[in-house]
Amino acid sequence: MIENRTASEPDVVLVGAGIMSATLGVFLKELEPALNISMVETLDGAALESSDAWNNAGTGHAANCELNYTPERSDGSIDISKALDVNVEFDLSRQFWSYLVTKGAIADPQSFIHPVPHMSFVHGPDNVAFLKKRFAAMSAHHCYYGMEYTEDKKKLSEWVPLVMEGRAADEQVAATRIITGADVDYGSLTRSLVRYLAGMTGFTAHYAHRVTHISREPGGRWRIDMKNQRGGETHSTTAKFVYLGAGGGALLLLQKSGIPEGRGYGGFPVSGIWLRCDDAGINKRHHAKVYGKAPSVLLRCRFPTSTRGSLAASTRSCSGLMRAFPPNSSSMARSWPCSSRSGRPISDRCWRSLATISI
Ligand SMILES: Cc1cc2nc3c(=O)[nH]c(=O)nc-3n(C[C@H](O)[C@H](O)[C@H](O)COP(=O)(O)OP(=O)(O)OC[C@H]3O[C@@H](n4cnc5c(N)ncnc54)[C@H](O)[C@@H]3O)c2cc1C
Repeated sequence: MIENRTASEPDVVLVGAGIMSATLGVFLKELEPALNISMVETLDGAALESSDAWNNAGTGHAANCELNYTPERSDGSIDISKALDVNVEFDLSRQFWSYLVTKGAIADPQSFIHPVPHMSFVHGPDNVAFLKKRFAAMSAHHCYYGMEYTEDKKKLSEWVPLVMEGRAADEQVAATRIITGADVDYGSLTRSLVRYLAGMTGFTAHYAHRVTHISREPGGRWRIDMKNQRGGETHSTTAKFVYLGAGGGALLLLQKSGIPEGRGYGGFPVSGIWLRCDDAGINKRHHAKVYGKAPSVLLRCRFPTSTRGSLAASTRSCSGLMRAFPPNSSSMARSWPCSSRSGRPISDRCWRSLATISI
């Protein structure tokens, strides 16, 4: 149990036991094995929230198939810069995991990563034209070497038979495919990383403990208050560094910390429905991650013209009529691009005002 103010107080407290805290914990111990790290998790084990395999889609996001990473510019060309950044980042993750497998920290890569073709599938002439341009831009880059494009329905029926079944003969469709995509079980990976950490000296995981408050002490250390979820007792500890890997709970704690970086953020719930198929015969006929193109949504700004003017000044592109796209699964809502297909993130000011914007 964490005691109040003992000599064993940690150098670092990781709040939350999801993939983010687990990854940072391993980074830190690799770089400085002498660090004393505490992980504090409100639930009874690691990876029980978003990082659990059943709570996310498991896509190894390399921007192979996610169409919202490649916006169309106002001149009709495709901006692939974000896709390239994401692709390189995923490659760095793979290199890190590969290093951990070689080191023996992760016993079996099959426990968390599998190859699966990544596809983008569109229908309708405008979307087909978009995908074709996107393919031309992406396949010219070495990061997307091997990307395939087709409008041929016979070929599409071989790639994704279930997606093609029952479609009208005159429907225009197209897809790209990269066969080297990855499916990642982040829950399994998190548990492997936490197990690896737990085998090291100077690492302790405290489950069933909710961090209730963080504040800065006069000496500069962080004070972390927590509550035992089983018995209800409260404890506190201090640390030189705190990492808020608390997923959806991180924002509240960030705001409680009082640091300026906690200002200007907002959040909103995103809902969805998981459909799970346990019929092996059907599952055998589908081996691909297929992403579609979300319909764009027009958000009409309710501000009076004068306010719109100041919004325009703050975003340099807000025209009062904002074009927004659903956020991608792995980024915060602030990455919604603002208006005019500019791809720029919504500014703090627009973001805080979003509650007053109606669809
Ligand atoms: C529907 C959906 C689909 C997704 N699909 C993908 C995908 O295909 N590919 C991909 O890469 N990503 C995907 N993501 C995103 C990915 O799941 C998350 O980015 C990732 O799991 C976040 O990890 P984390 O460690 O930050 O948070 P979490 O895994 O949520 O861990 C945070 C932990 O903090 C704990 N906690 C919270 N508050 C406190 C507190 N006060 N004190 C102590 N502990 C606390 C929670 O109990 C939790 O265990 C998806 C997410 C969703 C919701």
